[in-house]
Amino acid sequence: MKIGFIGMGIMGQPMAKNLLKAGYEVMIYNRTQAKAMALVEIGAKLGHSPKALAEWADAVILMLTGPEAIEAVLDGSSGLLSVSDAKPIIVNMSTVSPSYTRDLASRLQKEGISFIDAPVSGSKKPAEDGTLVILASGPQNVVQVMTPVFLAMGKKVVYCGEAGRGTDMKMVINLLLSVMMAGLGEAVVMAEKMGLDVQLFLDTVLSGPLACDFFRLKAPMLQQNEFTPQFPLKHMAKDIDFILKTAHANGLALQVEQAVANYYERAMKSGLEDMDLSAIKKVIA
Ligand code: NAP
Repeated sequence: MKIGFIGMGIMGQPMAKNLLKAGYEVMIYNRTQAKAMALVEIGAKLGHSPKALAEWADAVILMLTGPEAIEAVLDGSSGLLSVSDAKPIIVNMSTVSPSYTRDLASRLQKEGISFIDAPVSGSKKPAEDGTLVILASGPQNVVQVMTPVFLAMGKKVVYCGEAGRGTDMKMVINLLLSVMMAGLGEAVVMAEKMGLDVQLFLDTVLSGPLACDFFRLKAPMLQQNEFTPQFPLKHMAKDIDFILKTAHANGLALQVEQAVANYYERAMKSGLEDMDLSAIKKVIA
């Protein structure tokens, strides 16, 4: 398969690199062309517009900020939807809301385009290591066609059902993630305020039943106050908004997530948006 890949951000670059490593022909597009050049140097073709990818590829993967960015690459005279024939499969791996995903799926279906909703669980490091978990939904035969491509970027493909169910799954995963991040942040700040040895506290957590890869990744960042973005805080804030709206649509008022949302609102107002989500510690402190 010839793969088009749009979005050379923190996640998109290593994911596209793993496709190249697996031997796929890949054409990439990024709004800011300079960010695409590292991949061109290792063999990716450079597309000058989303349309160029749609004309060339069998499938086009989107790994973009969210709905606004997706609309920007779909629409217009050089957009993905401007091709009249040989329409590729479109795979959205960005995190968006379930309602947007279902709307997009129905719009693309009317255009005769196969659409796969496939957000990911995992951050920069799993994207680099090719160990993402891919939450795929849409027509099962198309997911099957895409599965070898997904497995070049991830360690597991979870089939979630019709398009929208992958994003539904992503909402509950990121609900848990946001609560775990805030919980670890509060615990570290409290340990600091009490004058505990924070390294000893974190070592104790990581050697007991609460140990997990996520805490292992974030513990040194919290201890060293080193917030280089792996998962930018602004993206978690965007996801929390999607999560709360989705919860509301399902008749739920999530008390804990609402409290976490308040931290993120303050973090966004404090100029922390481009730091890693672990910078939530600064607001807690
Ligand atoms: P990122 O580094 O901020 O990259 C965002 C990408 O979207 C860039 O390529 C950017 O292009 C592009 N973009 C933004 N607005 C655009 C527009 N209006 N038109 C065209 N392109 C636009 O984000 P990321 O961390 O890779 O995350 C990508 C997606 O994956 C997000 O939905 C995020 O929530 C999700 N996700 C992230 C992680 C993580 O740990 N980072 C984990 C799981 C899921 P420019 O380079 O031109 O700005």
